[in-house]
Amino acid sequence: TTILGIESSCDDTAAAVVRMTDDVPMILSSVVESQTELHALYGGVVPEIAARAHAEKLDHCIEHALDQASVGLRDLDAIAVTAGPGLIGGVLSGVMCAKGLSAATNLPIIGVNHLAGHALTPRLTDQLAYPYLMLLVSGGHCQFLIVRGALDFTRLGGTIDDAPGEAFDKTARLLGLPQPGGPSVERTAVDGDPSRFSFPRPLLDRDDCDMSFSGLKTALLRARDAAVADKGGLTTDDRANLCAGFQAAVTDVLIEKTRRAIRLYLAECPAIPAIAVAGGVAANQTIRVGLQNLADQMQTSFLAPPLALCTDNAAMIAYAGIELFRAGQTDDLTLSVRPRWPLDHKSAPMLGSGK
Ligand code: ATP
Ligand code: FE
Repeated sequence: TTILGIESSCDDTAAAVVRMTDDVPMILSSVVESQTELHALYGGVVPEIAARAHAEKLDHCIEHALDQASVGLRDLDAIAVTAGPGLIGGVLSGVMCAKGLSAATNLPIIGVNHLAGHALTPRLTDQLAYPYLMLLVSGGHCQFLIVRGALDFTRLGGTIDDAPGEAFDKTARLLGLPQPGGPSVERTAVDGDPSRFSFPRPLLDRDDCDMSFSGLKTALLRARDAAVADKGGLTTDDRANLCAGFQAAVTDVLIEKTRRAIRLYLAECPAIPAIAVAGGVAANQTIRVGLQNLADQMQTSFLAPPLALCTDNAAMIAYAGIELFRAGQTDDLTLSVRPRWPLDHKSAPMLGSGK
């Protein structure tokens, strides 16, 4: 099975070709054209600019991916495209492009949920059997999932407000660091002392795996302003300490809540699961090390995709497409886009009294 993947739901235009032979997937090409510079001036992604840039870049991106894979359109079995959730203009650009290709080639289209793409990524690079526990932690999402299949997700819990990626980006903005915030905060934190400033670890008094990250912003703002007032400006040390403190708080919450997610998981499935992580924030080394340690403690395995497959890419969309294609899930030219598209509406199982 050979599938072209197309991704354009946020600020990366991406195309990739993935081939599955004897149940082993292989990435033949993965092209990502970032729009970071286009949006740098505005301090965040501007949807109209993103949609236009996707429309302009997609053709070239796809050609490049096919070339690099040495694959022609006639070698493909289907075209997988992100159909949501995301910025509607960008998603539409990708879906229209896929429909054009489909109309010209008669290849089936497969509408892929962007979050399913992230959640299945660990299976693209490692042998990982269903079911497993997924911590999906990205720019717009943060949730624990039982992944039982390409179409079978149970949400155990997640953030009740901001996503950690958003919080990293906001932190960078408040400290005058470049976007995307995750990598620049991580870099800056290397020289910092995480205990110099105190940050809250919200919701740890609760036994569920829900999380809250919006309070960290306020804490950061207050700590920054106090440091500035104290010294008449933000010193390099303070900036590093703030980044380290913020990152440690996010990490602590994610690790502790993963521990609880495993308990919730065990209420539904019999064995301690492999822990997998995906999404842009999964690129963070401190978080990865924390999760690895937890997995070691629990005597289970920890799987984290390589960095380039954590952030948005089309290889994950092509791979999810392969799984859907093999399950007989294809779409046609009537495929519609879904700006909101939760993987699962089901609520978490209750543990004991809920306390
Ligand atoms: P979603 O997948 O929820 O729709 P998205 O596609 O915008 O959102 P991703 O591309 O998966 O999100 O991830 C981007 C986010 O990951 C950004 O918020 C970015 O700051 C964050 N990120 C990237 N690298 C790191 C890192 N090393 N540490 C922490 N955060 C990071
Ligand atoms: Fe994403």
